[in-house]
Amino acid sequence: MERLKSCNPATGAVVGQVPITPVGDIPRMVARARAAQAPWGALGTRARAELLAGAAELFEARAERHAELITAEMGKPIKEALAEAKSLGSGLARELEEIVEALVPDQIEDGRARSTIFHDPLGVIGAITPWNFPMSMPSWMLIPSLAAGNTVVFKPSEETPLCGQAYADVLNEVLPEGVLIVVHGADEQGKAIVRSDVDMIAFTGSREVGKHIMREASSSLKRLVLELGGKDPMIVLEDADLEKAAKFAANNSFRNAGQVCVSTERIFVLDSVAEAFETALAGVAAAMSVGPGTEGSDIGPMVNARQRDHVLAQVNAAVAAGAKVLAGATHKDNYVAPTVLTGVADDMDIAREETFGPIACVTRVGSVDEAVERANDTVFGLGAVVFGKDEDQAAAVARRLTAGMIGINRPVGGVAGTPWVGARQSGFGFHKSKDGHRQFTQTRVMTRAL
Ligand code: NAD
Repeated sequence: MERLKSCNPATGAVVGQVPITPVGDIPRMVARARAAQAPWGALGTRARAELLAGAAELFEARAERHAELITAEMGKPIKEALAEAKSLGSGLARELEEIVEALVPDQIEDGRARSTIFHDPLGVIGAITPWNFPMSMPSWMLIPSLAAGNTVVFKPSEETPLCGQAYADVLNEVLPEGVLIVVHGADEQGKAIVRSDVDMIAFTGSREVGKHIMREASSSLKRLVLELGGKDPMIVLEDADLEKAAKFAANNSFRNAGQVCVSTERIFVLDSVAEAFETALAGVAAAMSVGPGTEGSDIGPMVNARQRDHVLAQVNAAVAAGAKVLAGATHKDNYVAPTVLTGVADDMDIAREETFGPIACVTRVGSVDEAVERANDTVFGLGAVVFGKDEDQAAAVARRLTAGMIGINRPVGGVAGTPWVGARQSGFGFHKSKDGHRQFTQTRVMTRAL
């Protein structure tokens, strides 16, 4: 059987390998998942949640081993990898409780009849995930899918098959046979899952692949949850704490080497404070350490040479078109130094297409209206951030932005229980929250006379 080798982006060494799933086997695997669905669905939400909760201890016990694997396979600094690995177990009980509550049938009466609204399992879910959060992205999809009574055929990214397998191995220690089946491979295997007899595709990845999946899924009207890319703006208002804003911009542009869907990719700063902000940002960038994720550096390698070349091509084109380099713009092997560009114009590729690298792009604007207009001038709509001392004024600016999640003087993510949601072409459907969990179900209404 053909093997998929997983390589360490810091050293090039082979971390491990997995057998590639022959595309011809996928329909049989889906049939196996379908056969396992009826008994799994019949268990009931509470019983399934209790069973899945048993995985929390296993995730906790293996957190360090998982973190080492994340760093080895995709390069993120070990501290960030450990936070990701720990989150798998620590948040599980709360999330399962939220899913159980979300799926309790609702009742509505009108004096003559009573309707009950059920949230039944959909059937078999095809789950396809990216490499940038190689354990938490699978978790965000698999836990609500499984707890709702679906069985799952899961394909992790070809960049991080070992993380995907290790994640599924934990769940498979508590799940009955056939409820969670792993497929390994790249786009051919992903396409075969989309073509197969699954009832829903839950996908996190790029906008281009999301569009392809939507086209392919239309022939059988498969349900879709697509969490796609972003080009998140940050607006720095005149009264912003510039040191804080610069630190945030650096962290949110460079974290995980910029390979985060809600990375800050475009910064609009008011003219009067632009110079001070740019100087502070360049200072933070220059002080950051770049090196192997195992050695406590701030920024690890890019996931692979292709991603590095994509980032460098955008930077070089921007500089050729007039952008100025305030920090970075250098590289060695798969490492790209944290880079600050100023004078970025709206028609540059780096201002329009997702970069997914450690690059902070600053554009000066003359007014708040201009900042809002240019921030919204994108097909994406995942996150956005506004920095300003007067939080009511910052909130008023935030309400004019077209993104799905907006942070004021903080990152975009909402408190536990809120959705992780992209607007416009950053997503179709969303994750987390009661409404998010219900997407993995079929709503059915049964009405009887009173
Ligand atoms: P990608 O779209 O290249 O691949 C994602 C997955 O899809 C992989 O498993 C891949 O093998 C598979 N795939 C590729 N082509 C396919 C096809 N035609 N049909 C079915 N499956 C196919 O994305 P990536 O490079 O792995 O991840 C980075 C992207 O993910 C970025 O755009 C990032 O913004 C996005 N992302 C979004 C979120 C979010 O919450 N919105 C979270 C993390 C990552």
